[in-house]
Amino acid sequence: MINQPGMAALWDALPQARMVGGAVRDMLAGRPVADVDFAVPLSPQEVMARVEAAGLKAVPTGLAHGTVTVVAAGRGFEVTSLRRDVATDGRHAVVEFTDDWKTDASRRDFTINAMSATRDGAVFDYFGGREDLAAGRVRFVGEAARRIAEDYLRILRFFRFFARYGRGVPDAQAVAAIVTLREGVRGLSAERVWSEVKRILQADDPRAVVALMRETAVLELVLPGADEARLAALVARGAPVDALLRVAALLRGDAGLFARRWRLSGAEQVRLAALMAQNALAPDADDAALCRALADVPGEILIGRSWLGQDERPGWEGLRARIAAMARPVFPVLGRDVVMLGVPPGPGVGAVLDQVRRWWLAGGCVADKRTCLARVRAALDGDAHA
Ligand code: ATP
Ligand code: MG
Repeated sequence: MINQPGMAALWDALPQARMVGGAVRDMLAGRPVADVDFAVPLSPQEVMARVEAAGLKAVPTGLAHGTVTVVAAGRGFEVTSLRRDVATDGRHAVVEFTDDWKTDASRRDFTINAMSATRDGAVFDYFGGREDLAAGRVRFVGEAARRIAEDYLRILRFFRFFARYGRGVPDAQAVAAIVTLREGVRGLSAERVWSEVKRILQADDPRAVVALMRETAVLELVLPGADEARLAALVARGAPVDALLRVAALLRGDAGLFARRWRLSGAEQVRLAALMAQNALAPDADDAALCRALADVPGEILIGRSWLGQDERPGWEGLRARIAAMARPVFPVLGRDVVMLGVPPGPGVGAVLDQVRRWWLAGGCVADKRTCLARVRAALDGDAHA
């Protein structure tokens, strides 16, 4: 049984709570469990009252959905009241609270995600999730087509969980329903889609699931024109598990278009564009070239580009090791140094900095501050004499 700090205190306050969803699944699969979520046959108000009476902090995270975050031993646990769906429209659900565990389990997506476990380790498995998990079967709770029409995100969730837990032939009913209903993905919010796509591409080996997405024509909805062969090559080379690096391999078209379509965060957009920039280092680049590249681009990005650009030439592994071992050179001159030398504050300072920096780069980023400033002085003198 999982025993994270804080769980005992939570269970003392809410003895009727059960661990649910991913935690039970991963515990049974013998995989590491990160977040432990709980469900309770109590209303959120009752949860708040009991948790506070026990001296723990209760944060009303999503009361409308019945979720209270309980803080115990410095960790937050989501505790959600058992629910039943009153109405669904393919994107949102209207729920009401219930005290029936099976009703709550039946609104969850897959049998492997619909199990719950009590404090003493008793597992409640209403739909054969344990057996499916052992056999590598990702199966909807109930009829696949009906469950997808309730929430089209489940199409992408199917791929996420299939990538992680699936083995062999995917469930035929699920695949048929996905093919029929795939257009529903278009109606989902960009944020939900991108969050799922990332998790799909975060699988150890996403090649089979990406092929399945292509066969079901879902791939063209989320990543039109995807270059599967490049993804396959990237994975085969042993590149790290990195969703954005994999997107960079798959994308054939405009990264900006993709980033805007799925509303990537600012940081993700910058990283994706940097990974996809064409100026990769050659595997036999000398130290000066490497240093120059590092002055402009973080090592992490240069390493990512090396995975994307890797070809038959030898030396890629060595190149990555050299990048990783090299400290990022820092241009030693600041604007105020230039001002001290007599350049009036203003755009002229930037121009001088830019010029010295280019000289510093060309020299392999070895000149120190004194040498750089001497160069500035010489240039200024030259201007004065001209
Ligand atoms: P992960 O380890 O990837 O976080 P997880 O099982 O915790 O896996 P979540 O997306 O965090 O997955 O969802 C938690 C649980 O909530 C699921 O296990 C499932 O029971 C239920 N769930 C979440 N989203 C849906 C959905 N769209 N439809 C039905 N059930 C869902
Ligand atoms: Mg989770």
